[in-house]
Amino acid sequence: MLNNPLVQELLNEVVQDEENLPVVKSLISGTNTDEDIAEETEIKLNIVRKILYKLYDSGLASYKRSKDPETQWYTYAWEFDADSVTNQIRAKSVSMIDNLRRDLESEENNMFFECPDGHSRVAFDKASEMGFVCPECGNEITFQENDGVINRIKEEIASHEKNYSLLQSGIMK
Ligand SMILES: [Zn+2]
Repeated sequence: MLNNPLVQELLNEVVQDEENLPVVKSLISGTNTDEDIAEETEIKLNIVRKILYKLYDSGLASYKRSKDPETQWYTYAWEFDADSVTNQIRAKSVSMIDNLRRDLESEENNMFFECPDGHSRVAFDKASEMGFVCPECGNEITFQENDGVINRIKEEIASHEKNYSLLQSGIMK
């Protein structure tokens, strides 16, 4: 599941520092207490705890609390929620693909005008309103072929769809 780039992206957002990803790996592999995870990953216990609560906060992990009858201390058994990862990525992926499709439509249906210094890039109507002058530097904004942009968006859509279908087909599990 950690091989999927969308999973990596989501987990990196939560964990923030890639160096802490082993905590997630350890949890996924079934190690379920903070102390065991700290031992296995050689990451400091307080950092392990921080990561676990971040995962909890993002709905990606849950815990069960139980009291040791002898010591009266609480222990926490943690569990990674793979379904929640899948659901969150699915929702994110769908909205990302939707946005890209909208961008693609706009690129395909409009002519774009750009400042040579890259300050503005606008569709014809807007460019016309602006008198074909960049408001930032006063340069003339000129027509730019957008085939490259269109191809890039198409590639991005294809790559998101590929990752998404991997997710759907259950390769992740
Ligand atoms: Zn400009």
